[in-house]
Amino acid sequence: NLPPLYIITPTYRRSEQLAELTRLSHTLMLVPNLYWLVIEDAYKTNDLITDLLKRTGINHVYLTAPMPEQYKKKKGAKPRGVSNRNKGLEWVRENAKTGVFYFADDDNSYDLQLFNEIRFTRKVSMFPVGLVTKFGVSTPVIRNGRFSEFYDGWQGGRKFPVDMAGFAVSVQFLLERPHAIMPYSPGFEEDGFLKSLKPFEPNEIELLASSCTKIYVWHTQTKKNEPSSSLAEKYNNTNVHL
Ligand code: UDP
Ligand code: MN
Repeated sequence: NLPPLYIITPTYRRSEQLAELTRLSHTLMLVPNLYWLVIEDAYKTNDLITDLLKRTGINHVYLTAPMPEQYKKKKGAKPRGVSNRNKGLEWVRENAKTGVFYFADDDNSYDLQLFNEIRFTRKVSMFPVGLVTKFGVSTPVIRNGRFSEFYDGWQGGRKFPVDMAGFAVSVQFLLERPHAIMPYSPGFEEDGFLKSLKPFEPNEIELLASSCTKIYVWHTQTKKNEPSSSLAEKYNNTNVHL
């Protein structure tokens, strides 16, 4: 009877989507007592994903949470995955009582050891994330056996300069904080969310991954592969769909 793990995965429609979710699903299939909340930035679900999720046998929900139009229209950086994660938090508040939740983007790479460790988070745990900015990694810094500061390529005046993949939170801890929410502020999503978990201070962080000396998650990014649709007509009424 391991504590349940709630994995909140934002996703959105693009050529690489099914490949990313297939790879992630085959990681999560190896994790016991897991609930996968797949939440798409869209107005309707995608049958290919519904089918994939069924075939994995993972306990899951597949929901939609479109990015509000006001942010979609804005120029510059967008709040990617925020509507999805807030929908996931809402689901956790309504359906979970114990265990731990974690925001797992669809394009990152995960070592199974990550799930073994975050499952026992009492408040908020943190650990290194590889391949974040030119700094190579984003992690809490430990000096003399204690938390000291954050190593991250972009501090940005943040209280918690960490990556979305770098922390996990206890469900009970969330339920005790009914106002916790992720803000629609590009670059400040993690910081805003962690600050909304108040009261919570950096000295309370549970430091995992052998005192943050191991990397169990990487912020990998997939190259864009846009198929050309100029050949579409030639392949009408064949198996080739462009
Ligand atoms: N995402 C989304 N809608 C978007 C763009 C991204 O839901 O318009 C999701 C995406 O699937 C991923 C997360 O939000 O799980 C973070 O996006 P991305 O990986 O593109 O951001 P990056 O890692 O480059 O910061
Ligand atoms: Mn990403």
